[in-house]
Parts: sequence; structure tokens; C-alpha cells
Amino acid sequence: MSDAESLLQEVSSYLKPKDVEHIRQALGFSDSAHHGQLRQSGEPYISHPIAVARILTPLHLDAPAIMAALLHDVVEDTHISNAEVAEKFGKPVAALVDGLSKLDRIEFETKEDAQAENFRKMLLAMARDVRVILIKLADRLHNMRTLHSMAREKIERIARETMEIYAPIANRLGLHEIYQELQDLSFMHLHPTRYAVLVKAIKVARGNRREVVGKIQDAIRQRLEEHHVIAQVQGREKHLYSIYEKMQSKSLAFSQVQDIYGFRVLVDNVAACYLALGALHGLYKPIPGKFKDYIAIPKGNGYQSLHTTLFGPYGTPIEVQIRTSEMHKIAEAGVASHWLYKTTHTPINDLHKQTHQWLQSLLESLSQSGDSIEFLEHLKVDLFPDEVYVFTPKGKILALPRGATAVDFAYSVHTDIGNRCVAAKVNFELVPLRAELRNGDRVEIITASNAKPNPAWLSYVVTSKARSQIRHFLKTMHFEESAQLGERLLKQALASLGVKPQDIEDAQWEKLIKDTTAKSRMEILADIGLGRRLNMVVARQLARMSDGNGHEHSNSGVITIQGTEGLAVQFAKCCRPIPGDPIIGIIKKGQGLVVHTHDCPTLRKGRGGTDEWLDVVWDKHINKPFDVSIKLIVANQLGVLAKVAAAIAEAESNIENVHFTNEGDYTTLYFTLQVGNRQHLAGVMRGLRGIPEVVRITRIKAAPA
Ligand code: MN
Repeated sequence: MSDAESLLQEVSSYLKPKDVEHIRQALGFSDSAHHGQLRQSGEPYISHPIAVARILTPLHLDAPAIMAALLHDVVEDTHISNAEVAEKFGKPVAALVDGLSKLDRIEFETKEDAQAENFRKMLLAMARDVRVILIKLADRLHNMRTLHSMAREKIERIARETMEIYAPIANRLGLHEIYQELQDLSFMHLHPTRYAVLVKAIKVARGNRREVVGKIQDAIRQRLEEHHVIAQVQGREKHLYSIYEKMQSKSLAFSQVQDIYGFRVLVDNVAACYLALGALHGLYKPIPGKFKDYIAIPKGNGYQSLHTTLFGPYGTPIEVQIRTSEMHKIAEAGVASHWLYKTTHTPINDLHKQTHQWLQSLLESLSQSGDSIEFLEHLKVDLFPDEVYVFTPKGKILALPRGATAVDFAYSVHTDIGNRCVAAKVNFELVPLRAELRNGDRVEIITASNAKPNPAWLSYVVTSKARSQIRHFLKTMHFEESAQLGERLLKQALASLGVKPQDIEDAQWEKLIKDTTAKSRMEILADIGLGRRLNMVVARQLARMSDGNGHEHSNSGVITIQGTEGLAVQFAKCCRPIPGDPIIGIIKKGQGLVVHTHDCPTLRKGRGGTDEWLDVVWDKHINKPFDVSIKLIVANQLGVLAKVAAAIAEAESNIENVHFTNEGDYTTLYFTLQVGNRQHLAGVMRGLRGIPEVVRITRIKAAPA
């Protein structure tokens, strides 16, 4: 019988004829899509998807999962699109295939131990549907079985990845057999010689052991019967890698590991487990400290059993596992026991929900042991996601809190990258820096050497590292910019005293620093910029120290405003000065220089002493936009807002903000616009006056009521 026929026969043993027919169609479709492709071994490619599906049939996976297993390489490796799969076989199958293709695209290049854990978590997080992971594990298992024909280097990479990533996932999901086979195969490919030696040794030992095993098994059976415990007793063989691991971790010789005999006792209910335990402890003496009650405290993956080790008849230890058949099902098939042992037929839509419920109930049944907490931690990624896993361009995985943005990513890579980031590419497409990252995203940060953090980032970053680094930078930047302004203010004051800044010697500065509480010249300059020290006072102190008779100069210098001073110079929000407006500066303590228009109403109201007032003028060459507020009263006509917006755009101005109030036939629009200077604003207003519906235009010099 061909493999394809065997598969169809296997699925018809537990699926309805209609499902089997769908599987037959998926099989035919996959066969023709892969037609002409060969595996590394020379076999036709279709042999691989069939084998993957057949790994899943003993677990009684449902029809969509078997179909997805057959189609799992179709989208990645042939011209067929996922949309076509959806059209032919329905969305649920296509969704599974899509999930698998996404996992395929993940490359596991570098893996320190910590990274391996992240990879595992990410895999689980990305495969929202546990069937995707089951198919992926079957895919990996078949690839491991057929690895021989690959290049040595590739074999090692895949085997190591299987050992570090896939086998632990299978274990976590309780897929006992798949877990053991993945481990044994990885071990075989990584250490072929050790593997061969062990295989031979086990074969020999098994022959020698047969008689002893039979005798102990009979004794156990008889003792249980005497105690009226109905039970099945099985001899148990360790899988190869676990023998090797035991030899390694406990530094035991092969014969010492093999000298341990394993038995399994299956009973009907929990009470019988403890009865059987008592009976066996009466038969052979238990080794103290070896008894473990995984029924009361289950293992992380839901495993339940009683474990005990006894002194055997020949002085050899006997390991016994006692469990109910219910516990045995979970021990053998784990997550898959949900499909394998479901009693009633359930619609496909409910399957995912049911899986969740199964995992949930598993969680609830777990007690507070360390193992359970670990299991919870891992499942949380799937069930209660609060982290995302993303890639750097070099393939390293970073774990970030959910809601993290490109800026968070940049700072978690390196503070310098965060401070200089200007844009981000997610999966090779440009996205805004505030874009939220998702599981599996490949994130690339674009930096510029002169870029600086933006205070607005603080409104959306979620990591504390990004937050504190942005704050730190802004504070430092503020300091530097204030110092620059302070230096200009000091120069102006010195000029009014007739002193050239270069005439002031370092010694004078040092004396000034010593006389004040400042730590450095920079700090004094920053203090001037921030209004904590008066420029004239500092200038007089320095001048006095230089010649002792500094006299005030009538022709005092004037500060020019360039608009590029950064945080040290602010433009008052009340009057929003623009180049061309007569302006005045006020030094505010701790804030630096604030620029108002001469006729600012707020300024007039608050006019007090003039000590802190400063003559400022616009620089002649300013080339940056300024915000300005205007108020428009327009008649309520259809499309008037569009006309207004068009006129503003026509005059080459940007609308930064708009809000409006409606009073009967008229609407009042409040705009914040960007203009270069007064002339530009005049042009904008001229354009707006040309609109018939516009009744009145005024520039606002105080916050709108
Ligand atoms: Mn495959």
C-alpha cells in the first residue's frame, strides 16, 4: 500500500467520510503543486507532507489540521498563494497554513541559552492555534528522520536547533513520544559515535535484563492482586537520550544507569494509586527520599503520577510509576489528548475554544509548585499575552512589553540608537516611530547623527529605559542650549560694559566659579540662560576682576533671535510672535528666555519690574516655520471649510490645529497655522479675505476664550 493510501486509511478510522474526502482533495492538490520537486534524498517532494500528516494521525488530529499538514509547504515552496488555499479548502485550513509559513520564515541563527528560551516563547506566542505547533513539530520530526542527505554543517545546525527549541516545546506540551524521538534523533546527529555505542550497549543489556524484568513484574502483579488492586503492570524502557543525560548529569557508568529497572502501574482511580503504592512498599523496601507525589502536585506540563524507587530482589533499584489511565493519556499525548480522547464530535469552530478551555483547566488543576509556575509563565505567552518578541536586523530576539513602539525598540538595542533614531522599518516597510510592534516583527531603526529625542516620544513609549533616557537627554540638551544662550547674553552684557569676552582670562573665570556655588563655567552660563543669574551681574563681576573700573556702555548690544535656540528660547503661546513682529524677551527663572510680541496683552497685564526684560530682535535670516493663531468668522455654507483650507494651502501654509464654535448662521474657526513671517501671514489672510463667506479675520494675541 502506498503512503498516501495508508494515510487515507488511518484518517478514515476516526474521521467522517466527508472529512476523509476533503483530505483526499488536499492530498491531490498538494501532489500536483509540488509536482516535479524532489527532496534532498531524491524522493518526490509529496512524500514529506504525507509523512508529516501521518505523524499526526495517531494523535487523531482533526481534518483541517491534517489538510494543513499536507499543504504546509505549498505556499512557501510553490506558486500557490494562501488566498487560493482559502478558496479551495476554506479559511480555517488557510489560517493554519499561514501560521506555519510564518514560523518557517523565522530563522534561528544565534542561540545563547537565554535566546533559546525567547525563541521558544515566541514560537508559542506566534502560533495562537496549538494545532500550528503540533504540525510544526511533526514537520520537524520528519525532517529529523530524513536529515542524512544534508550537508554536515546544516545537519548540525538543525539538530542543535531541534534539541534547544523544538524538543523542549514538545515536552512542555506533553507530547511524550515526539519529545523523546526528537531528542534521540538530535543526539544521533550531534554525537554519531556516542549514539552508536549506546545503541549497541542497550541491545546487549536488554537481553540480559529480560529474565529479571519478568520476575519482578510477576511479583508486583501478585502483590497487587493480594491487595485487591486491579492494575496493569508494564515494564518500562528509558529512551536513549535520557540514559545518556543521566550518565552525564550524575556521572554514572552505563551499567549503573541500566541497573535500574522501570515499571508502570496503571489503575482505575486516584485512591487505587495510593493503595498500589502501599502494597508495593510492603513488597520491597522504598529508598528514602525517592518518593514523589505528582498527583497532589502535578508537573509543569500537567503530568500526574506517583513515583517511587524500591530496593529490588537483587539489590538493584526499581523505579515505579503509578497513575490512573486518565493520567496516562495526558502523560503520553499531552495537549493532543484533547483530540485523541474527545468523546463527542465537536464543530471545528469550537476546537480552538476547547483547546483554550483544556489548557485553562489544566492551569487551574495545577498547584503552587515551582514547575507549575514555570508552566504558567510559558502558557501566559499564549493565553495572556503581555510581551512581544521581535527581531533585530541581525536576527537577535528582543522581548518587549506589549504596546512597545519602535522608539522602545531603539532604546532597548542601545541608548545611542534611541537618541538618534529618526524613522523605523518594520518588516522592510517604513512606519512611524510610534508604531506598535507585534510578535515576529523584524525591526530596523534608521538613525541620523544630528537627530535628537523628541519630547513627544514620552507620550507613547512604554519601557522605563526609553522613558528615563529620553528625559535624561532632554535635560542635558536643555542645559547645553541654555548655556549657549547664556553665553550670548553674557557677551551682550560685557559689550555694554565695553569688555571683549576674549579679554577675560581663565583665572578670572576660575575665581568667579570659586566665589559662587557653581561647579563650572558651563553651569554659570546655563544659569544665565535659565534666568537664575543676571547677565549684567556676572558681566560686572568678570569685568571688575579684569580691570576694576568697568564702565557701562550706552550702546548696549541686542540679542538676536534665530528660532533655532531649542529649549532655551521659547515663543510665548499667548501672542505667538513671528518674524517681523516687534518682540521683547523676558528671562523667566528656570525657564530661560521667553519671547513675546510688544503688544502682547498677557505681557501688559503682568508687567512688573523691568529688570528681567531684555531687548531682542529677529535675526535677518530665519528659515523656519512659526505657529500663529488666527480667528475666522464665516457664514455657514456648504463646503466653506474646504474653501478655507484650500486658500490656506494655496498660500503655502500648514494647518497645525483647528477648532470651531457654531453660533446660528455663523461659525467661528480658530486656526493655528504655520508661517515663515509677517509677510507670509499677510499673504494667507489676503487669500482668506477673497472667500465670499469669510466675514472677519483677526490674528489672536491671547489664548482664545
Ligand atoms: Mn516541511
